Amino acid sequence: MTASSSAAAPANKACDSRNNNTYSKLLGCVSAEGVTKHLEALQAIADANGGTRASDTPGYQASVDYVVGVLEKSGWSADVVPFTYNATETVLQQITPAPAAMHPNTGATGTGEGDVTAAVVPVDVNLTGDRQNTSGCEAADFATFPAGSIALLQRGGCNFSFKAINAEAAGAAGVIIFNQGDTIGAGDRFGLFNPTLGGTDVVDIPVVGTTFAAGQSLARPGSTARVAVDFREVTDYNVIGELEGEVDDNVVMAGAHLDSVPAGPGINDNGSGSSGLLDVVEAMGNSKPHNTVRFAWWGAEEIGLLGSTAWVAQRTQAEKDEIALYLNFDMIGSPNYYFGIYDANESSFVAPVPVPAGSEHIEGTLESFYTVRSEPYDDSAFSGRSDYQAFINNGIPSGGLFTGAEVVKTPQQQAIWGGVAGESFDQCYHLACDTIENVDQEALDINSDAVAFAVLTYAYSTEGVNGVEGREVPGNFAIPAPAGPEHTFAGPLGGDDGHDHDHEDVAS
Ligand SMILES: [Zn+2]
Repeated sequence: MTASSSAAAPANKACDSRNNNTYSKLLGCVSAEGVTKHLEALQAIADANGGTRASDTPGYQASVDYVVGVLEKSGWSADVVPFTYNATETVLQQITPAPAAMHPNTGATGTGEGDVTAAVVPVDVNLTGDRQNTSGCEAADFATFPAGSIALLQRGGCNFSFKAINAEAAGAAGVIIFNQGDTIGAGDRFGLFNPTLGGTDVVDIPVVGTTFAAGQSLARPGSTARVAVDFREVTDYNVIGELEGEVDDNVVMAGAHLDSVPAGPGINDNGSGSSGLLDVVEAMGNSKPHNTVRFAWWGAEEIGLLGSTAWVAQRTQAEKDEIALYLNFDMIGSPNYYFGIYDANESSFVAPVPVPAGSEHIEGTLESFYTVRSEPYDDSAFSGRSDYQAFINNGIPSGGLFTGAEVVKTPQQQAIWGGVAGESFDQCYHLACDTIENVDQEALDINSDAVAFAVLTYAYSTEGVNGVEGREVPGNFAIPAPAGPEHTFAGPLGGDDGHDHDHEDVAS
């Protein structure tokens, strides 16, 4: 028991009962301790459900139930909003000369559906030397191909679509494309990859990608295999919590994705943002904000921002027009953190997406928060690569925080924020080790306050963002001008801090 945790008990009681309508009251009730309580709950959910909280798993459903429980207990409304998406399930099994289950890719676009077991016939593959090839790139490659067989093709020489279309024209019942087995160009080509065919319904036969090693095994004489691709409609859920304000047609939104990747429990990515919002939910339970405050916990972010995109698409234009702004919190407690704010004014990074007017004000508000705390901060690319994408695509001003993922911390950044230079901001990004051990308590403590600060600011007035007049936050707190970002990212204007959820591999 530490001094701070014993001191927290009476404070928590006051937090539960009073109207936390000033910066000092609200931020005093939001803490790393409070956030960690929710992170522990999400970790326990993952532990009880095979170590993951990924979309379309029981661990995700349990996470949804948990969020709803906290909302209802705290006096917010809770709405579980369904959406659907198409999932692709793939199977690859060698039957002879020796049975082996192999890893196929998942979710390639353009493949057909089907379940075939047949002889495997290598087509113009090159397993030796430099492994350069034009396997399946020309119709002539299939001159002696026996119709009804499975075409075994090697990556390289042309687009995947040419290989698949030529195979189908030659009467192939299915296609396996294995990785090239070389190290030319952008990294090695040995592992699992996605042979995206660059469109939908490019062929009617099942097409899967696999590793170079699997390709070698499948190329042996007497090889037969099973190839299956099955499309399935999945229903998933976003959770929307709302605290009604005096003004109900100027809505302040904040959101975090609730799903993890299949590989792990997703505690920093993105239990941290989800739990930061939950701690603010509890602390604002007795508040009647000026503007309506709406929080979202998004589903299926990790497989393409599907939940947030669906929810925005489900709104009428009038409903979109009521959304004053959107705040996104995706990874706010990275173990080797820096304090990043989406760079709406593009002072470090050129944004590859539209930046709606008003977004700069959100950046400024978050900068002012760190300035109040005398914490150094920096820009994070306004990349659209998280759940704010659907909002900015609809012209809704957006901003957010990011403490870093797979990018490596520089010595300069270590000097500013501590931690370990030469290591990723989050070495467990998208891995099984993204557990309750994979968050920094200091980052959580400061950033949960940053969430609360921005939400309270805009709950009272969004005038600086969309011109709609509000009220002053009670307590006479003067927000200082931002101290300015540290500008530690290299490049013409900065660099790519790469929290990239888009791993489609379209080219050959
Ligand atoms: Zn994330």
